[in-house]
Amino acid sequence: MEHDIEALTSGAMASIWSWVQAKIPAGIEVFDAHAHIGTDIDGRTMTGDGMRERMEAAGVKKSIVFPLNDPNARDDYSGPNDVVWNAYEEHPRSFVPFFRLNPHLDYDREFARCVERGFMGLKLHPISQEFELDDPKVVRLFGMAAEVDLPVLIHAGFAMQRIVGPLLPTVEAHPGLRLILGHSAMVEVLSAARAFEDHQNVLFETSVVQAKDLYELFSSVDPSRVCYGSDIPYGDLPSTLHSTLAAAEAAGVPDEALPGIISENIRRWFP
Ligand SMILES: [Zn+2]
Repeated sequence: MEHDIEALTSGAMASIWSWVQAKIPAGIEVFDAHAHIGTDIDGRTMTGDGMRERMEAAGVKKSIVFPLNDPNARDDYSGPNDVVWNAYEEHPRSFVPFFRLNPHLDYDREFARCVERGFMGLKLHPISQEFELDDPKVVRLFGMAAEVDLPVLIHAGFAMQRIVGPLLPTVEAHPGLRLILGHSAMVEVLSAARAFEDHQNVLFETSVVQAKDLYELFSSVDPSRVCYGSDIPYGDLPSTLHSTLAAAEAAGVPDEALPGIISENIRRWFP
């Protein structure tokens, strides 16, 4: 589907895309650990079908999908969560549905509803929903997720001030909690690498992390702890795959570790 990928990248990235395709080992089914479906306050939108088209053009087999910072979230995010669920029901083999919550508001009902329904994870965004990771309401939510073995992806990128300090007690209290650090805790990547080194259930996700921080990440954590993400619609598949694979190569990550980074490290959570 060569022509589709050209349409997605305006043809400008043809040579970069060939490099990416040559780098991806044969038979590996790329898994995108961070993508959005719905509408954002900033005007961005993405539909389930739009996501599927992009995945198909780029050869991505599965994506974790969850709401944007939706203007229609009202109090409990149930509307945007339903949009994600409907996309999942249309494309159950392509999407791994996560739901989103606002920890400041009464979240128990929506949490129970989504877990009951079969959502496979929870997305939290400390900047958009204005909370700290050690807010008691958030710590309680992490505990609830740990109790039902629900993976959590947290935005740990742009505009974050504190990540490792407020998160470490939760990770230590719930060693079984599966946690994806969205954007790899890029503002504190080295201290995160050190603090979470022995916590095998913490993964570093690579979407829209700047080159220097991706390089530091691949130089300081075991590649088995890194998973690829695009952050669609903010990132796109060709350029985020390129930046992840190029940073891994620059940091001397062996090719044998690439299937894990772009697929298997996260896939084992969602067999
Ligand atoms: Zn995102």
